Amino acid sequence: MTARAWHLAFAGPRLLVVEEGPRVRLPEAEELAAVLETDPGSLGNAEVPLPSALGWPCRAYDLPPAFDAPQGFGLLGLRDLYERVPDELFRVAGTALQKVDWLRTHSFCSRCGHATRRHRVHEAMECPACGHLHFPRLAPAVIVLVERGREMLLARSPGFPEGMYSTVAGFVEPGESLEEAVRRELAEEVGVEIEDLRYFGSQPWPFPHSLMIGFTARWARGEVRVDGDEVVDAQWFSPERLPPRLPSGLSIARRLVDDFLKRARDRQ
Ligand SMILES: [Zn+2]
Repeated sequence: MTARAWHLAFAGPRLLVVEEGPRVRLPEAEELAAVLETDPGSLGNAEVPLPSALGWPCRAYDLPPAFDAPQGFGLLGLRDLYERVPDELFRVAGTALQKVDWLRTHSFCSRCGHATRRHRVHEAMECPACGHLHFPRLAPAVIVLVERGREMLLARSPGFPEGMYSTVAGFVEPGESLEEAVRRELAEEVGVEIEDLRYFGSQPWPFPHSLMIGFTARWARGEVRVDGDEVVDAQWFSPERLPPRLPSGLSIARRLVDDFLKRARDRQ
């Protein structure tokens, strides 16, 4: 009988799972060992320990990118995983993939080119030659729902699925506050100015290493004018006239939209 633990093995961006009908689960240590034809404990530096999220150990492993899942197993990207596992596991899988990806891309020092190693204390890769520390990458991005009475401003990026509109979002630039980033993104992408900017909530977004920081704001002035580059269309929508498709429940964008719709309907 093995003590409870989560084993998260990634081939490229995809997680190794055991298929059980519509649901999937993580492999047990013995199943993983059988698949890998080795003891997971002997994977050496391919193994990425994670802080225990739930009171039991969580471990991540880096499989060869071309790894093929055997019969009964599957390899799932994070977005596909979302529908098929409990929320806690989805969160831990996102964290694990970010760590694995960080280790994959920081095995050499970007300053002097020497091979790096795990720092003894810090969550960092250390260069034994020049001493440079490489911390995990995290790219903060702001996301904002702008409202005007019972309408909200949603926009379409060129890469969106057909009919989908979402809240305006963008990466924070060096030297900027979060509030400045929100105002700049709105001015650049949809041409509107806002007031009453309020913090809404945040969400780790492991695609591949963002942190989404959500806000609500009220429209102040400016006609909607899209940049045609990052945003190809933007419109005011009401609870009675919604776009054909809203962002997935996976995202803070959807939480912002649902929160607005609830408030707008209450106000009716
Ligand atoms: Zn170095």
